[in-house]
Parts: sequence; C-alpha cells; structure tokens
Amino acid sequence: MKLGIIRCTQTEDYCPGTTDFKAIRSKLGAFEGVEEEIELVGFTNCGGCPGKKAPLRAGLLVRRGADTIAFASCITRGTPIGYPCPHAEKMLELVRREVGSEVAVLEYTH
Ligand code: SF4
Repeated sequence: MKLGIIRCTQTEDYCPGTTDFKAIRSKLGAFEGVEEEIELVGFTNCGGCPGKKAPLRAGLLVRRGADTIAFASCITRGTPIGYPCPHAEKMLELVRREVGSEVAVLEYTH
C-alpha cells in the first residue's frame, strides 16, 4: 500500500500525528489485516476550514504515488479533542470524486 494521509489543519497544534505513525507501523486500526508493506508517500492537511483544498491535496498525493488516501482520525472521529470535522462528509465526497474508484479512501486511521 502506498498511503497518503490528510489531517485536520485545526488539530495540528494538538497532535503531531504520532498515533497515525504507530497505527501504520503496527498495522492497527484502519490498517489491521493489511499484509503488504505500507509506505507513507505523504502527510498533509486539509488546507483549513472548510476543507475545499482537500481534493486538491488528495490529487497531489495520488500523483506522488499514493494508491490509498486516508483521512486522519482527527477529521472523522475528532481525536484527540473530541471535535470531529463538520465538513468531513463533503470532503470525503469531493476527495472520492477527485481520485476516482481506483484509489481507496479510508475514513479514519485509528
Ligand atoms: S475543514 Fe474540517 S478537517 Fe479541515 S481544518 Fe476545518 S475542521 Fe479541520
């Protein structure tokens, strides 16, 4: 798996992404059961509210080799502060449209 992660810009001050890296390394959370090696090709953010740059950045990650895009858990699950993104569903819709059906889109990381 060649993975690109998009995280919440608003949450960056609370979280350096440590648990995402652990989940990838230990194949936990959204990566449980993945047998192939997971290579992180990029780790970026949504570009800030209301997330209109997310599809642009997902497309960039795919052009850099990602075959899978994951939204970090801060977006859909609100970790670590308990505040999910109110724009998550729209961002997911736009990202899926941008990258097409050949690229997997994971809604969370852990
Ligand atoms: S659009 Fe959502 S994911 Fe992006 S900064 Fe705002 S709250 Fe975070």
